[in-house]
Amino acid sequence: MPKYDYLIVGSGLFGATFAYKAKQSGKKVLVIDKRNHLGGNVYCENVEGINVHKYGAHIFHTNNKQVWDFVNSIVEFNRYTNSPVANYKGKLFNLPFNMNTFYQMWGVTTPAEAQAKIDEQKTEAVAALNGRDPANLEEQALTLVGKDIFEKLIKEYTEKQWGRNCKDLPAFIIKRLPVRMTFDNNYFNDRFQGIPIGGYNKLIEGLLAGVECHTGIDFFVEYKDRWHDIADKLVYTGAIDEYFGYSLGKLDWRTVSFKTRVVDTPNFQGNAVVNYTSHDKPYTRIIEHKHFEMFGQSVYECPKTVISEEYSTEYKDGMEPYYPVNTSRNNQLAEKYRDLASSEKNVLFGGRLGQYKYFDMAPIIEQVLNIKDF
Ligand code: FAD
Ligand code: UDP
Repeated sequence: MPKYDYLIVGSGLFGATFAYKAKQSGKKVLVIDKRNHLGGNVYCENVEGINVHKYGAHIFHTNNKQVWDFVNSIVEFNRYTNSPVANYKGKLFNLPFNMNTFYQMWGVTTPAEAQAKIDEQKTEAVAALNGRDPANLEEQALTLVGKDIFEKLIKEYTEKQWGRNCKDLPAFIIKRLPVRMTFDNNYFNDRFQGIPIGGYNKLIEGLLAGVECHTGIDFFVEYKDRWHDIADKLVYTGAIDEYFGYSLGKLDWRTVSFKTRVVDTPNFQGNAVVNYTSHDKPYTRIIEHKHFEMFGQSVYECPKTVISEEYSTEYKDGMEPYYPVNTSRNNQLAEKYRDLASSEKNVLFGGRLGQYKYFDMAPIIEQVLNIKDF
């Protein structure tokens, strides 16, 4: 008789939330992770008293009150609001594109003046479309905000981030960026937003309290052939193609790399996120981690700061798989793997890697909260 009801592979938000709910339902659970820590990509490392987002800046945001109430029942969230600033060759602009940006770009002070300027800026691109929908990111951006914003805040940033020309990228990538005729620098439209007080590790610790967890354990080395002996069911949040031994071929991923360093000043850039939108800097953005959790004067109570330069990198074997790549080849291959997955008995494929879909944190939690039967 197996000792556990569930073996959960991966202690990221999917695995940790699943473990929490299963434990609440009286199930016996074992969580393993191949990394030497719990938490997956939301894990933070404490450096100089600052929580450093080791796998990239994570900002929690959602419109779903059930998800928000759930995470706040585990740990309270602070009032952090994401308001990135763009640096184009030394000149600063507010993001997302809003009245502050339009004032900084053109000196316009009213929504009517800004709209007139945008209309003038996009005339040529709209005419070139001749009634059809934008076919790529460049056309989408030019017809949304016009030439100046495209050239200074979008073109080179996007080329750095995706390693491809804006004409060769799909239009939908840029569609999710808000364009506002108000003075509102909040990057998200969601009703709820913040960072766990004390950092993301508190959220993970709360979810996994009282759950047996083993780190530094690779499922494929330790359990792949014998998990049935120890658990009735498997929850797998690793890469879906790896589970099937890459039998249909390898899925592609995009990754980012970080150069993180301690700087001997209390306040390096005055904001958590500064995007570098021209090619004169090789990184896409600099994250100053303390601003996620320290506000106002409290920034100065911590004498040093930690910054990470973020570089967009082509994925190679052995790197962290971060973003699924939305090409038709990958989407078709992932679909085939998902078909295989659906016929695996007593195995649930969850999370970003297990489904090969880019999910933010809140939808990942929502998926688990929607499971009725544990
Ligand atoms: P993960 O956190 O990746 O967890 C999977 C775990 O499985 C890992 O710990 C891994 O080590 C483990 N694992 C894999 N294979 C094995 C194996 N063979 N054996 C044992 N363990 C294994 N979302 C937001 O809402 N806001 C943001 O601002 C945001 N920023 C992001 C920035 C970056 C750079 C990235 C990459 C993602 C960001 N996200 C953001 C998305 C967020 O990270 C995910 O929604 C969330 O981490 C998904 O959780 P998960 O459990 O599916 O995956
Ligand atoms: N983008 C841009 N300039 C910026 C920020 C974003 O051109 O300063 C574009 C870029 O193409 C990016 C897309 O908008 O891929 C979506 O940005 P978002 O910040 O939502 O993407 P993320 O970095 O979270 O993947």
